[in-house]
Amino acid sequence: MTLQYLQMQTERFLLTLKTESQAVITIKAHKKVIVLGAGISGLCTANRLCESYASDEVLVLDGAEKAGGYIQSERVDGYLCDRGPNGFLSKEPLTLEWIEELGLSGELVRANEASAHRFLLLEDGLVEIQPPPAFLFSPILSVKGKLRLALEPFISRKTDDAPESVWNFASRRIGSEAADTLVSAMVLGVFGGDAHGLSLAHCFPRMAEMESKHGGLFKAMLAKKKEAKASGTSAGGPMGPGGALTTFKEGMGRLTCVAAEKIADSIELNAQVERVTYDQEHFVVTCADGTSYTADSLVSALPAYAVGDIAWELEGSIHDAAGKVECSPLVVVCTAFDKKDKHYDAKSDPGNPRWYLVDVKYVKKFKRTVSLAELKQCEVLEDMQLVRKGNRLSVMPVTEQQWEFINGML
Ligand SMILES: Cc1cc2nc3c(=O)[nH]c(=O)nc-3n(C[C@H](O)[C@H](O)[C@H](O)COP(=O)(O)OP(=O)(O)OC[C@H]3O[C@@H](n4cnc5c(N)ncnc54)[C@H](O)[C@@H]3O)c2cc1C
Repeated sequence: MTLQYLQMQTERFLLTLKTESQAVITIKAHKKVIVLGAGISGLCTANRLCESYASDEVLVLDGAEKAGGYIQSERVDGYLCDRGPNGFLSKEPLTLEWIEELGLSGELVRANEASAHRFLLLEDGLVEIQPPPAFLFSPILSVKGKLRLALEPFISRKTDDAPESVWNFASRRIGSEAADTLVSAMVLGVFGGDAHGLSLAHCFPRMAEMESKHGGLFKAMLAKKKEAKASGTSAGGPMGPGGALTTFKEGMGRLTCVAAEKIADSIELNAQVERVTYDQEHFVVTCADGTSYTADSLVSALPAYAVGDIAWELEGSIHDAAGKVECSPLVVVCTAFDKKDKHYDAKSDPGNPRWYLVDVKYVKKFKRTVSLAELKQCEVLEDMQLVRKGNRLSVMPVTEQQWEFINGML
């Protein structure tokens, strides 16, 4: 390695080394703390750190062009679209305190009443999840499933400390049908994950506590309702704190945008971290462009998959375990009720929509196009929704038998 040049700047040292392979390594100034990731976790951590340290002693590194991580909001053709989260529950005092400190309290808006309606997609379409007594008459669970759910107060609490998945916990307490239908859907909605593979204690600590402290979910909810009534607050459900679903007038991205602006001098964007080492005194963080930064302390606010991608040359590091955490692919689709749009359906109410998205995935490409006229001539397909009068949707159900028949026509 040949030392190419050493340049001293007034406010920071810049040392550039050139290897035989021409790769350039630039070591920038030493920091007290480096935070990896400028998503909400990294931004919140760095905002707190900047209260104790000067802004040039804290550095946040992020590989993206913009801070905020998953939280991004944008205006598209006049519509406000959230690319990730579209709200948070207003119950946690620390969240509200931070929002107040950032001067954003006046921009908070509560979700409208339609958002309180939750639906499950069953075979026959959307079914609203309603609280008892209406739930007793809903088709969401079979009679057997409802009876098993009603036995919850009589199920004894778990006595060992063995880790338990969310699904195992739910099936033990409310039965496997409710675990499959209600809990798996809820877990999918919150984590985009599989209830069989997620830990109850880590994902829903409050639910675990409801059993350990009160002996069960119903008993705990009754106790919490009593407490909440006495204190005039909201009890919340088993999944987490109560409170209203809340966002900002210009979307959730407003929070990360203002949090990043407040510590703009401490953020380095387009800084994709590739390697972290420890030289017995300092952490050395190296980015994809060859730039290295050193620090006394290091905070990782990266998602698990990103932790697994970085080369950590540290003892006792958790990166191997982090690399094994599975992440689900997610697609965010923003929809709107626009009276001016030609597809607007006045009969579809936001609180009780008639239209919904279905999961569609690529299966195979047909060798040729099969026309509607051709399908209409096939007696076997006379019950197929597509060939019936007035049915002209872009995505329509096909039975297995119809699918096999159409495949045979190709
Ligand atoms: C579609 C969707 C909807 C959601 N809805 C909600 C909701 O309604 N309410 C709610 O509370 N939560 C919701 N969540 C969860 C919430 O968005 C996340 O929990 C939260 O944003 C995570 O923030 P974070 O800072 O921990 O991570 P991230 O937002 O993932 O930030 C990590 C940052 O690290 C950076 N990075 C990654 N690798 C590297 C690297 N090698 N070097 C440098 N930088 C790197 C990334 O660019 C990113 O900016 C939702 C999540 C998704 C995806």
